[in-house]
Amino acid sequence: MFQFRLHGHPTPYTRICLTSLHFGTLPASFDMDIQNFMSKFLLPMLFYHCLFPHHGYGKSHRDATHCNRVTALKGKFMSRFVLIATIAIFLFSCPAQGSENYDLVITNVGLFDGITDKGEVNVAIKADSIAKISTDHISGDSVIDGKGKYLIPGLINAHVHATKPEDLKSAIQSGIVVVLDLHQSSEKRAALLRSYRDSTDHASFYSSGFSATLPDGHPTQYGEIETISNSLTAGQWVQNRLNNGADFIKIIRETGGGPPDFQEIPTLEFNQIQEIIKSAEAHQKVSVAHTSTLEETMIIAELGVDGFTHLWMGTDSASDQQLKLLKELNIFVIPTAQTQLEIWRTKVDGAPQRIKEYAHQNLSTMELIKSELARIHEAEIPILAGNDPPNFGIGYGEDLLVELGIYSEAGLSNIEVLKTATGNPAKAFKLNSYGRIKENMPANLVLIDGNPLEDLEALKKIQYIWKNGKQVKLR
Ligand SMILES: [Zn+2]
Repeated sequence: MFQFRLHGHPTPYTRICLTSLHFGTLPASFDMDIQNFMSKFLLPMLFYHCLFPHHGYGKSHRDATHCNRVTALKGKFMSRFVLIATIAIFLFSCPAQGSENYDLVITNVGLFDGITDKGEVNVAIKADSIAKISTDHISGDSVIDGKGKYLIPGLINAHVHATKPEDLKSAIQSGIVVVLDLHQSSEKRAALLRSYRDSTDHASFYSSGFSATLPDGHPTQYGEIETISNSLTAGQWVQNRLNNGADFIKIIRETGGGPPDFQEIPTLEFNQIQEIIKSAEAHQKVSVAHTSTLEETMIIAELGVDGFTHLWMGTDSASDQQLKLLKELNIFVIPTAQTQLEIWRTKVDGAPQRIKEYAHQNLSTMELIKSELARIHEAEIPILAGNDPPNFGIGYGEDLLVELGIYSEAGLSNIEVLKTATGNPAKAFKLNSYGRIKENMPANLVLIDGNPLEDLEALKKIQYIWKNGKQVKLR
C-alpha cells in the first residue's frame, strides 16, 4: 500500500491508497504534497466524472454520444458510483493509525524514557528509529509482549578507558550502548574504536583522545602523549585534539598527592586550564576536568569547565555555599565512586601501617563519598554514572551496576539512579541519539524482564537490546 503524506502533519485525510487509484508501481518511499496531488490529479478526475457522467473508462466521447438512453442512465449511475467510491476510498481506505508498516511493536511495556516513568505504553520501531509511542493499540510486522517488563534507553557509561573492540562488546552486552572514553594514550586507537559506532555488536565509543597535561604529568605514565609546553600553547593543543577527532576535551589537574613516598608531579597551571576551557568552548566542545581536591574543583568550576570526572577526594566536605555555586555554574559530576572505593581499599586492606594512617587522614571514606553524593544530588547538580574501567580491574559491563548501587545507597531514588546513566549524560555531553526514548529518535533500547524502578537488580535481567533499531545478539 502506498501513502501520501502532507509534510509534517500526517492526518487520516492526507493518506491515500494509490493502489485503489490504479497508479501502478511507485516506489514505497514515494512522497508527495497532498494538495499538489489533489489539484493535479484527483479533483480534475472528479470534475470530469461530474461533467461527463456517462463516460466510462475505455470509452471514447464519440461512442458515448451515440449510446442509447438506457446506457446513458447506466453510465450516469456508474459514474456517480465511481465518484462516491473514490471519495470514500480517499477518506476511509487508509486510516492513519495502524497503517504504518512498523517493523517491531513492544506492547504494554513499562517505559522509562531517560527522564520520567511513562507508565505502560506500546512502542513501535521502524528501521533504525522509535516510530511511535502510544497507549493506543499499534500493530506491527513483529510483536513482543512487554507486559510486566520495562523498556529503558541503552545505558551510557560516562567514564571509561577502552583499549580494544572487545571492551565495547563487553559493554553492550550489559545494555551499555555508549561509553565515554576519558583519555587515550593513542589517538589512532581512539579513531579505530570510534569506527565501531555503526556496529550493532559494539557500544558506541566517544573519546577525548589525549588528556591535557604537562610533560611528565599524569597520565603520561601510561604512554607518551602530546603535552602542553613552551612550544605548544593550550589553544594549539586543543586544535590538535580536534584535528585528531576528539569528541570532547579532558583536563588534568593532579599534583601527585598519594601516600608520603609518592612524588609531586608537574601539573597544569590554572591560567593554562582556563585557556583550554575557552578554546574548547569556542569549538562547542564539552570540557571535563580531573581534580583531586575540593579546593581545585571550585577554582576550575569558576573557570568555566562543564563537569568533573571524579568526585573530589580528600576529607573535605563541600559547604552548602559551594554546592550552590556548582549548581549555578551548571556543573555536572561523574563520581567514579567505585574507583574511590577501590583506592580506599588498596590503601587500607592489607596495606602497610603508614599507608593506612595516610588513608585515614587524607582520603574520603565510603561514608563521606555517599554523604557528598547525597548532598550533590539534593543541590540538583547532575550526576553522571561512570566507573572508570579498567582501573582496579573494574569491568566494562555489569560492573556499572556496582556504581549505580552506590548512588542508590547514597539515597538517590531508583529513577534518579537510572537518569545518571541515561538522560543526564545524554544532556551533558549533547548525545542527541542516546539516553532517551522519544519518537523519531534512533532506537537504542534495552528491554528488562522486570521493573528497575522498583528494583535496580532487574537491570541484570536483560531480554533484548537494540542499537539503532537492530537487535544486539546476546551472548
Ligand atoms: Zn579515568
